[in-house]
Amino acid sequence: MTLLKSIPKIDKFINNKAFDGYSKSLITKISKEIIQNLRSDILNNNIKTIDENLLISQTIKEYEKQISPSLQTVINATGIIVHTNLGRSLINKDSLNKAINIATSYNNLEYDLEKGQRGERYSHIVKTLQALTGCEDSIVVNNNASAVFLVLNTFCKGKEAVVSRGELVEIGGSFRVPEVMTQSGAILKEIGTTNKTHLRDYENAISENTSMLMKVHKSNYSIEGFSSEVDFEDIVKTAQENGVIDYYDMGSGHMIDLPYNLSSGEPSIKELMKYNPSLLSFSGDKLLGSVQAGIIIGKKELIEKIKKNQLLRMLRVDKITLAILEDTLNSNLKDELDSIPTLQMLNTSVKTLEQRANEVKNAIESLCKCEVINTSTMVGGGTTPNKKIPSVALSLEYKNLKPNALEKLLRKNNIIARIENDKVLLDFRSISSDDASKLSTILCEVFN
Ligand SMILES: *Cc1c(COP(=O)(O)O)cnc(C)c1O
Repeated sequence: MTLLKSIPKIDKFINNKAFDGYSKSLITKISKEIIQNLRSDILNNNIKTIDENLLISQTIKEYEKQISPSLQTVINATGIIVHTNLGRSLINKDSLNKAINIATSYNNLEYDLEKGQRGERYSHIVKTLQALTGCEDSIVVNNNASAVFLVLNTFCKGKEAVVSRGELVEIGGSFRVPEVMTQSGAILKEIGTTNKTHLRDYENAISENTSMLMKVHKSNYSIEGFSSEVDFEDIVKTAQENGVIDYYDMGSGHMIDLPYNLSSGEPSIKELMKYNPSLLSFSGDKLLGSVQAGIIIGKKELIEKIKKNQLLRMLRVDKITLAILEDTLNSNLKDELDSIPTLQMLNTSVKTLEQRANEVKNAIESLCKCEVINTSTMVGGGTTPNKKIPSVALSLEYKNLKPNALEKLLRKNNIIARIENDKVLLDFRSISSDDASKLSTILCEVFN
């Protein structure tokens, strides 16, 4: 009872000198919670004395916790370059600096500097995309999911979009093609079977109410064995002969051929454009290696219709996105592919990865048992399903920690490793040279 009486009064407590310079309202909120907890501890006989200094340090600790940023950098040692959970593609710093310059200054986002009148925000990257892909026109939205939704909503509301059953995929747990189609107002017309769809299935499905033949990249799975799908080239031909739209949701989409034979069966945007398709869409931050965006390219007359859809206003991109994307596309145009981090990581030689791994090994081997090994990984992000690329990893063993415990210890220090065959691996395919030196420093601290 006497203890209850000596609980500090909030008004007095929050005016303690220790809180000088802190936000009054946040200190008040936290103090109330801490004193509330103190009261229940006393009532439950959990404490015998009140230590005001301890209460103050608890309050400050909680304060620091609440104001510290939730978004943090990590070292991606999983080997997966386009890691959906770890931010997908990294943005080149120079591109971001250009975007900072645009975003912190007034700019011509929707202003035509030549005519001195209102311009169009989508105009800024059209020329580059035309030069890169040969498209007639283009538009950029928030991400590829919105691109798909916008295309379907514009052309297939109350009308049929024909899709192969083998392509009704779920991507990343929340993007399910059939559900997105239904929500957009499109009538989903499924054709073929899970493993086989033929051109005649598309031909037979076309009716008066058909608006589109749609192809979806399978992204995170592949069908092996007795299976076949129809090439986009044939879908384009069939659609155009029948006066309906052809549309390929490419998902990732890459401008150039990829190393390690990753491009086999995965035509680039340029190659697909040779078929003169109506519409293609792809992500900005998968293999294109830029910022989160959805890019739609194709026939001018169709893009014009998309621009008239009110939905576009809800899905439109910001100046920062456009500035970064413009710079990435320009790097493609100039053949400066090494300035695109995703492609640079993909193109790094095994020898370079070995060097990086050995440097980290040299820095930590006195503290932790480790070995440089050859391994393989995948690009990730629903880009080239089931295709392996060679990589190099540092296999770690620390004291008698089990792999799970070691992985957790590393994770507490923002190093995301992977466990394979009961070993903790740091895979260098997704570790840049900057990150490799940071990695040595952090590991030395952790193991000391
Ligand atoms: C990734 C993907 C999407 C979604 O793209 P986001 O850029 O993540 O919105 C849609 N379709 C396919 C086939 C994909 O691979």
